[in-house]
Amino acid sequence: MIGSVVGFWTRSSTVLCLGLFSGLAAQSALAADCPGHPDAIGTERTIVVDPREHPRLGTMQYPETLPLRDHEVVLTFDDGPLPRNSDQVLKTLADNCAKATFFLIGEQARANPEGVRKLVAAGHTIGTHSQTHPLTFHKMPIEQAQKQIDDGIASATAALSDPTALAPFFRIPGLLRAERVEEYLAGQGIQVWSADFLADDWHRISSSRVYDLAIKRLEARGKGILLLHDIQARTAAALPKILHEMKARGYKIVHVVPATLQQPATPTDPQDWQFNPTSETVPIARWPKVPDFAYAETETLAAPALSDFNSPDGNLLLSPELFARARGRGVPLPPEQPWPRLPEMQVQAASITLPVPAESLFTVPQDAHAAFRTRPTRVVTAVADTDDDKPRRASRDHRSSRHADRGRGARARLAHAVPSRRPGHAASPGAARPATHAAAAPRRPVRVAALKKR
Ligand SMILES: [Zn+2]
Repeated sequence: MIGSVVGFWTRSSTVLCLGLFSGLAAQSALAADCPGHPDAIGTERTIVVDPREHPRLGTMQYPETLPLRDHEVVLTFDDGPLPRNSDQVLKTLADNCAKATFFLIGEQARANPEGVRKLVAAGHTIGTHSQTHPLTFHKMPIEQAQKQIDDGIASATAALSDPTALAPFFRIPGLLRAERVEEYLAGQGIQVWSADFLADDWHRISSSRVYDLAIKRLEARGKGILLLHDIQARTAAALPKILHEMKARGYKIVHVVPATLQQPATPTDPQDWQFNPTSETVPIARWPKVPDFAYAETETLAAPALSDFNSPDGNLLLSPELFARARGRGVPLPPEQPWPRLPEMQVQAASITLPVPAESLFTVPQDAHAAFRTRPTRVVTAVADTDDDKPRRASRDHRSSRHADRGRGARARLAHAVPSRRPGHAASPGAARPATHAAAAPRRPVRVAALKKR
């Protein structure tokens, strides 16, 4: 039985059928007018494909897809037939006079042969989808894959009185393609169908979500093969709304049938099988069109002369003459804005005057020279000790003098200014103003003045 079915597809076309497909084109062409269903989307046209010329379809996995025009959709349903849900899908399609392609599971066909016959009677295209729907086609031995393919075809054919009613179309379960499987199918004259977009209707999502995804993805692509599952209740529930919305958005249903002797393939060009996105909502595939602007004002200004920009002194565009000329032409210019001015800064006079130190403070006694000899890197000062009034030697590193000041407090700082209050031991100029200790300079007169009062 398997051999006879496959042989049917692979033999010369002179023995191909005269039956089902010969009348499909006329039947579908009339479907646009759907008696009793004025809101039906109908079937816009039927295209006839030759699996040998185009063995793999569907841009989700292959370079080629059906030669659809913009806004044309091919409906496909997998995994049936299942009495209740598939029947509901069939009714929706009938109410819309829409033709689809069904990919049957062999076991389902065996269990529900009447469902297969209903599909045929309604004029839909029937392909197959393996015998038991294993999700291992990409890794199973080729012999096992061949058996799945052949058994599925045999089971679907068994439900039909006319084996020619089965199209040589096959969809790999789970779209889990493998090169050897595809080669086997091509060798049998069977066309592999992937898809162009999905609606995720095998997931546990709501029917409204199925609808949303179907329309959203169709809008993103503009056309293509839609993969659905007629065994899913959510799909059966979503389908009327999907078809209604497709029609509202200007989409057309296209029916696909295999070529026969009586019905040769629809003439196409090779590029027709390359998917060219037509939707402007696919940003990576197409630049958006520039909209047609309607200008409210059509008056145009005269183009500036080249001499307008030929300023000999280099003040290109900024010379006042150019602005003056522009004003003379009546071209409105923005009012001149002065540069912002900085506010006048009121500098307060330094009213605080410090007492002038008495000249006697800088008298250096003869015997004080030794105390102010310094080494290059250290300052040696006499420290006034207010307790015992005995000079003490202290040495500080210049670079750490600030830290030393904090640690030793005011007493250490005083050492620079006033080494001793004993008569004849007034600080020398060098001691009062150590050139290397700039931080002490501003304070010095104050401390001197304060100490003089003590
Ligand atoms: Zn499936």
